[in-house]
Amino acid sequence: MSAMRRIGVIGGMSWYSTAEYYRVINERVQERRGGHHSADLLVHSLDFSGIRQCQVDRDWERAGAIMRASADGLVGAGAELVVLATNLMHKAAGAIEDGLGVPFLHIADAVAQESARLGTRRIGLLGARPVLEDGFYAERLSRHGIDTVVPGAAARDRLDEIIFGELTVGEVRPESSAALQAAVRELAGAGAQAVALACTELELALTQADAALPLIATARTHARAAADLSLSPTPHTTNGTLVAT
Ligand code: GLU
Repeated sequence: MSAMRRIGVIGGMSWYSTAEYYRVINERVQERRGGHHSADLLVHSLDFSGIRQCQVDRDWERAGAIMRASADGLVGAGAELVVLATNLMHKAAGAIEDGLGVPFLHIADAVAQESARLGTRRIGLLGARPVLEDGFYAERLSRHGIDTVVPGAAARDRLDEIIFGELTVGEVRPESSAALQAAVRELAGAGAQAVALACTELELALTQADAALPLIATARTHARAAADLSLSPTPHTTNGTLVAT
């Protein structure tokens, strides 16, 4: 049995979804290795308040510096693989991965792998406004040959309200689940074959049973991919993506 790589998670954005990463990574390692095996895992859970302020101010440079300091801290504490437990802050992925010294598993690369597994090339995105509007997320997926569609302005406004007014402060309202179901139907109408819940809290509010299209739950997908990579004896890079073997 090969050694396990230590995973470093930059978390706290919000802690509700970081808790899912902790659970899913451990579940996956236990499923793969059996017995009393669990993940070798570090979590740096940031105070989300300061990060949220950077988002509101659109101060991506400062946010990137905070993410990078966290990543360096994790590597200094022995992390051999780093993941960032939020979609939105992958806007600062460049600041994290350049010269980090250990692999960084980008969340959109994990989503692309899951999309390929589902056999879909055109996916809808639901998430916070910068994820849907700023292009960085769609661009990363397009490197894998995946086209994206996003919902209209009204649904995008509603998503921001749901994410920052409820889910990231620990609330899930029934009417918000209904709004997410409607957004999935809108994306189906726009030709999406599957929908990526490109905000790590959305999977806490919408289940596959309630959705009109196959869902890609990004926290779960990313966390499983990180666990698989940590167990892989010979990970390799294909199309700029780290892949477990
Ligand atoms: N967790 C959310 C995401 O995956 C949003 C929270 C944040 O990082 O602002 O995009």
